[in-house]
Amino acid sequence: MRVAVVGLGAWGSMTAWRLAAAGADVVGFEAHAIGHDRGSSHGATRLYRRLCVEHAGLVPLAERSAALWRDLEERAGERLLTVTGGVSVGPADSVLVRDSLAVATAAGVSHEVLDATRVRERWPMLRVADDAVGVVDPAAGILAAEPSVLAAAAAARAAGATLREGTRVDARDAAEGVLHVAGRRERFDQVVIAAGAWTGELVPGLGVTPTRTLVTWFAPRRGHEQELSAQRLGVVVAAVGDAWMWGHGALPGGLVKLGPADDPAFVPIRPDDLVGSVDARDGALVSRLAAAALPGVDSTPAHVRPCMYGRTADHQFVVGRVGPRLLVAGGCNGHGFKHAAAIGEHLAELALGEVPTVPMPFADPRRVASVVDA
Ligand SMILES: Cc1cc2nc3c(=O)[nH]c(=O)nc-3n(C[C@H](O)[C@H](O)[C@H](O)COP(=O)(O)OP(=O)(O)OC[C@H]3O[C@@H](n4cnc5c(N)ncnc54)[C@H](O)[C@@H]3O)c2cc1C
Repeated sequence: MRVAVVGLGAWGSMTAWRLAAAGADVVGFEAHAIGHDRGSSHGATRLYRRLCVEHAGLVPLAERSAALWRDLEERAGERLLTVTGGVSVGPADSVLVRDSLAVATAAGVSHEVLDATRVRERWPMLRVADDAVGVVDPAAGILAAEPSVLAAAAAARAAGATLREGTRVDARDAAEGVLHVAGRRERFDQVVIAAGAWTGELVPGLGVTPTRTLVTWFAPRRGHEQELSAQRLGVVVAAVGDAWMWGHGALPGGLVKLGPADDPAFVPIRPDDLVGSVDARDGALVSRLAAAALPGVDSTPAHVRPCMYGRTADHQFVVGRVGPRLLVAGGCNGHGFKHAAAIGEHLAELALGEVPTVPMPFADPRRVASVVDA
């Protein structure tokens, strides 16, 4: 079966790998170079959390991804997922704590619940209120982002895929299995569009809004380097007032990565307009959150970089079939990297007419009725 994959960021490169590994004749198209910095997948790291507060159905997806990542590590000969453990912490009645506990219970995930005293013992670098509760995710960790994309693309090529970089396709006839490439029509049995923030442009009606976001890095203050290392701090999600801050400790030679779940600086954008520059407002919110929750960091960001992702109204992914020949994967809402390997497998299985290893009914595009032709 001849399958096209449009977009070779984290989701598309993993899809190409799983398709090629399953024996499909795969052609991948990437508008830029694989691993480029104008989409969603660039930078050094992404958080891995098994306890996915966003939806209980994501837990088995994260678990399956971790297993596939170990396979990819063996092929690549490098460590891509470093397990550190992590904690989601906030007031007992916060949405973060309530939903984390609900997801842990619904998905049957091993976890620990700590009161404020025990959170302070384990994470003395965190400033938490007396009524705080910590929900510990022992499987949380840090993914090497760009190396994972490059490793998946290399694994896809090793399994026989043809990946064409610097090749922007016109997908207007993708529903018929046709892509327009450099003025020529190319025909496929199945087309997978995994174009990140561009997905909504390529498949109108999906409800995916391209959104500019930021990656922000912070330096530990002198004397706080050890406590803010990746192994000591691990992965943290903290409810601070109405906002959430997520992040991880510094890997050797690196910085502490922190970001807000939402920010007034995260605005809709035309994906091709993402530019590398930042202004004074960028990073202002996360600076305040860092100062409140993690006093050991210098709250002036050491490094701020623009990035973007596709958002959906219900904050869930749009992954699945939209027509007899067409599959889509978009709307990562800023938490899709950790699921990339299992999403790639899921799309490969759907394209090949197989039953998915991990079902994702909550991400089914059929909930966005205007686009579906299946
Ligand atoms: C700031 C930030 C922080 C994040 N943190 C986390 C985190 O901690 N944990 C986590 O799990 N997730 C996180 N995410 C989300 C995660 O990075 C993404 O879900 C993941 O990288 C998947 O991206 P993608 O493959 O969908 O999109 P992309 O990486 O953007 O890939 C889409 C590709 O499609 C290509 N393309 C577009 N149009 C065409 C066309 N017509 N022809 C050919 N190619 C085309 C683009 O060039 C691009 O390379 C974060 C995202 C951001 C932005």
